Parts: sequence; C-alpha cells; structure tokens
Amino acid sequence: MVKVRFAPAPTGFLHIGSARTALFNWLFAKNKKGKFILRIEDTDVARSRREAEEQILHSLQWLGLEWDEGPMVGGPNGPYYQSQRIAIYEKFIEQLLQDSKAYPCYCTEAELKEKRERMKKKGEVPRYDGKCRNLNENERKRLERVGRKPVIRFKWEKPVDSVTDLIHGQISFKEHQFDDFIIVKTDGRPTYNFSCVIDDHLMGITHVIRGDDHITNTPRQIALYGALELPLPQFAHIPLILGPDKARLSKRHGAVDLLQYKREGYLPEALINFLALLGWSPGRNQELFARDELIQLFSLDRITRRNAIFNKEKLEWMNGQYIKKLPGEKFISLVEPYLRDAGYIKETVDRKWFAKVAELYRLRVRRLSQIVDKADFLFLEEFHYDEEAVNKFLMREYVSSFLDHVERTLERIAPFTPEAIERDLRALAEKLNIGGGDFIHPLRVAITGKSESPPLFDVISLLGKEKTLKRIKKAKRYFLKESVHPDEGKAI
Ligand code: GLU
Repeated sequence: MVKVRFAPAPTGFLHIGSARTALFNWLFAKNKKGKFILRIEDTDVARSRREAEEQILHSLQWLGLEWDEGPMVGGPNGPYYQSQRIAIYEKFIEQLLQDSKAYPCYCTEAELKEKRERMKKKGEVPRYDGKCRNLNENERKRLERVGRKPVIRFKWEKPVDSVTDLIHGQISFKEHQFDDFIIVKTDGRPTYNFSCVIDDHLMGITHVIRGDDHITNTPRQIALYGALELPLPQFAHIPLILGPDKARLSKRHGAVDLLQYKREGYLPEALINFLALLGWSPGRNQELFARDELIQLFSLDRITRRNAIFNKEKLEWMNGQYIKKLPGEKFISLVEPYLRDAGYIKETVDRKWFAKVAELYRLRVRRLSQIVDKADFLFLEEFHYDEEAVNKFLMREYVSSFLDHVERTLERIAPFTPEAIERDLRALAEKLNIGGGDFIHPLRVAITGKSESPPLFDVISLLGKEKTLKRIKKAKRYFLKESVHPDEGKAI
C-alpha cells in the first residue's frame, strides 16, 4: 500500500510552498487509496516553536488535508513527534557505531571553522577531513576527560552515484562532494537526515515526496539506508515555486503564513485548486477542479520539471469563482464575521435585508474581506468617498441640478423597489436627455462614494428612500456647494 508523509519542522509557519508539498502528498495518497501521515520534525529544540506547530496543524485542517496517522489522531507507528522518538533513534545509532559505520567526532566548532576557511582559501569545497575517523579508544577517552562532547558522524564509504527520481528521472550525484556528515549533535539529538531515514523506514513510507531543496540531502539519506541495510523508498522531488520575478518565493510575493489567506477571505477549496496547479497539470484546458476531480486525476508524472510561478492575480480570480458558487446562506455566514469585526453590524441586523445585500456582493468579491471596503456605504452613515471618483464624476456642472431632479423623482416612488426606481430614473434621464454614464456615475458616487458598486437600482432600494435622499443632499452640500446653482447654470 502507498504510504506518504508530510514532515514539517515547526520552526516556521506553513506557507504556500509547504502547503503545496502537503497537498501533493495528500492527493497522491488519496489517488492510490493509500495513507497520508503527518510527522512533526521537532528535534531542533532551540528553533521549534509551539506556535508554529499549532499554525501548521490548523492550516492543514483548514485546507481539509486530514491525515491518517499523526498528531491528535495517533496511529500504529507513533509517536509522530520526532522529539518523542529519541530512544528509537539511539538504537539505530548504537548499531552503526558497533558496526563501525559511524564514529564520535570531537572536533570543536572553532577547529572546524578554521579548517573550512583554509580549504576555501585553497579553492576547495569545504568538507570534513575525517580527522576523528580513526581515533582509538584511548584517544577518545582522553578527549572526553578534557570535557569534549562528541557529535556522531556517519562514515561515508560507498559513493552514491545517482537516484531515479519519479519527477526528474535520473539525478546524478557524481559531482557531489561527500563527507562524513553529522548524524547526532552534541546534545544527543539526531540530525534531520538521520531521523528522517529512520522514521520513513519505521513508518513504512513508500514514496518520499518533497521539495527540490532537499535533493542534496537525498544521497546522504540513500547512504544511510545502505549502511543500515534498509530498503529504499521511491523519491519524488517537486520543483520550487518562484515569484513572478523568477526569484524564490518570498514573503514579498505572498509566501506568508497560510492562515493569512484565511484571514483575507480565501476559501480553502480555491486555495487547494490553485496549489494543485502550481507545478502540476492534468494536461487539459481547464482551470477549475473540484477536490474529488483532483484526486482522480493526480499523478506524479504530470508534475512539471520546471519551477512553478506563483501568480496571485490568478489565485484571486479563482477565489472569486469559488465565492460565486457558494450557496447564499454559506456566503452570509462567511462574510458576517468580517462585517461584525469592522463594527458594521452591531447586535442585530434585519436578516432579510442582509441576505439581499450579501447576494449582491457574493458575485462581486474575490476575497471575503473585500466586502468591508466595498459595502461600507450600506452599513455606515460616515463612509469613505473615493476622491478620484468624486472629482471625475461628481464635480461637474450639470450634476447639481441633475441631482435635484433625481431627488424629486425618488420622493414620489412607492413602493421603493429596484424595478420602480429603475423605471422612473430612466424616464427622468430620457426627459433630461442625459446619457448612460453621465446619468449613472454621478448618482453612484453621490450615494455610494465609489465609482463601482452592484447595480445601482438594487443598491438604492436596499438603502431605502430616506437614506438615499439624505445622501444626495449631503453630496450636494459637501461637494457641489461651489458649483453653479441649477437656476443659473446649464438648464436641464
Ligand atoms: N523537515 C523537513 C522539512 O521541513 C522535511 C523534509 C522531507 O520531507 O524529508 O523540510
């Protein structure tokens, strides 16, 4: 049975890159009806943070990437925190030491640094020179007596020439400089390469799917599998994600804490769809895929060897598509917290009215949080007027008298339905001989403060007669007080 794992170190938050690695593992497991394991690689005590671990778990849950074994759910191969598996690693270390496949190294950081500098000066690639490889028992005891704490190094005997990678094909390591790397640190904790091999083996991992940035670790891990006489898993290294400027994805590009996307109002379904297409393509001209479809179509051989480019515009577009498809009730429940947080909705709100407002915005936001800026004028008396829109559409000669006419027309409409408002205002426009944009734009800016809004007749009806008339009066007072009075100006 296929078994894969996602193995984050809780030294940082889950971001776009690591979330995609988790997703590819998850999709592969689901496609193969296998198992997806979550393992927390927290042996670096100094850098591991509880907060990061919680963020990782929360993000995966939010994305719906549930794991079959791991933290909280347990499983037959636990514990799933490497910090709780130290005794397990020690047994394997013992075995390597006994077989003379590993040895304690007493070189100090300062000594190693000096050697590295010397090699660099000579134009060599810095590597460990094997000084402690052949120390005898007495020499070791002496160094320990003077208080030197050893690391354990792996004795690298056989070169690893290449690996067959499921994405890249044959990867050659012939050019690599191998040296006796550290497998246990002075604090007795294993290094990543060691604990990773032991756990992948004990947890029965069949496919190691991870980022290209780990390719350099792979020969080391293969050497360890060899020394411990363990069967190799298959390897699949996923090309990196780059920003639009082709630089490695950074915070500047959007490689932020994944929950930031949640806060901004991205939907997990949209993010899953977007992440799936970052470096993978099912080979058809289609952008929107439901989760089940992704599971069905996913395969490692359709992961591209080229680095993927992160396009935030596309993510936003995709999110908008998913928001449009949400059932009305669901959308309401998702946007209401944003409006409450912004203080737009106090205790109660007329649910029927709110449902109508929400329905207008469901089709017009690309992120849930956008409703706060876009719909402020529906909830607040003091809302924002866009200066550019005011200057462009409102500060024009004919507008003041035109708004007088609009006021009088609106006053007479009852019931105040979008249809009645549209009918009467269009008739007015015709009578005054004011064409489309000249008619709609100033009115929209006066009422909403914006150059864009949902259909204006719906908006006016939702706002109600009283508020709409107040807005028009206010716009005239604030913005048009210098303008020509209708009686003096262009007669319309
Ligand atoms: N802890 C490693 C990381 O977070 C895991 C790498 C691997 O998948 O082997 O990058």
